[in-house]
Amino acid sequence: MNTNKNQKTLIVANWKMNPLTLRDAKSMYGKIRTQAGKMQNVQTVVCAPAIYLSELSKLTKGHRCVPGAQDVFYEKNGAYTGEISAVMLKEMKVPYVIIGHSERRAIGETDEIVNKKVIAALKEKLQVVLCVGEKERDEAEYLHFLREEIKNSLASVSRAQLGNLIIAYEPIWAVGEGKRSDTPEDTQETILFLRKVLAEIFDKRVAMSISILYGGSVNAKNAQSFLQQSGAQGLLIGRASLDTKQFGEILKIANSQ
Ligand code: PEP
Repeated sequence: MNTNKNQKTLIVANWKMNPLTLRDAKSMYGKIRTQAGKMQNVQTVVCAPAIYLSELSKLTKGHRCVPGAQDVFYEKNGAYTGEISAVMLKEMKVPYVIIGHSERRAIGETDEIVNKKVIAALKEKLQVVLCVGEKERDEAEYLHFLREEIKNSLASVSRAQLGNLIIAYEPIWAVGEGKRSDTPEDTQETILFLRKVLAEIFDKRVAMSISILYGGSVNAKNAQSFLQQSGAQGLLIGRASLDTKQFGEILKIANSQ
């Protein structure tokens, strides 16, 4: 729940490698934009495949629904085949970027790489959605793992840049096909722990001011309980964001918090 009445609930869609055509991407974005345009208490972000972003950015009207990228590279330009830089995203009017998603970490992205990407994106004043989350809810180890992951991912990030940082807590065991979500109660405990770690790295005021999202098998049925009981300021949504009707229901739920 958002305790700060002036702060909008942040709902981030992660379309992953979907849909297959630009035509479908534009149609889905148009539907979401129409819904999101009515939600004055919600900031909606649609993280689409990079190849669609310039077209989606042209379709954007106002600020209630904006496009986001699913990744970014840490260098500005040069001989980095296949990569896209933060400057390019900014130039394309893409204000948000997900960094360190578990599906990218699974193909080799280390905390060190994530950290470089976070620094590069914050430098260009992009809104960074930094994903963290444990592979297993191992009682003894998972908090230790999260502490290290956050510390490493935010190494050398300055306090002045934190206004553009959002953390998405996504327990890996809860993300994707065939998985089940965390409980709002357990998420609340973990979010409190993440704030404790942020207070260790920065200070308590900073720790309380950073938005933390929950992600992992969120749908229209469980969105309300996560928004009301987990202490999260928003949600990161994969599969359910591809169903524009269901995603619209989630936006309505978020708007009424
Ligand atoms: C995600 O991809 O970040 C995600 C949370 O996926 P899903 O909602 O499908 O679990």
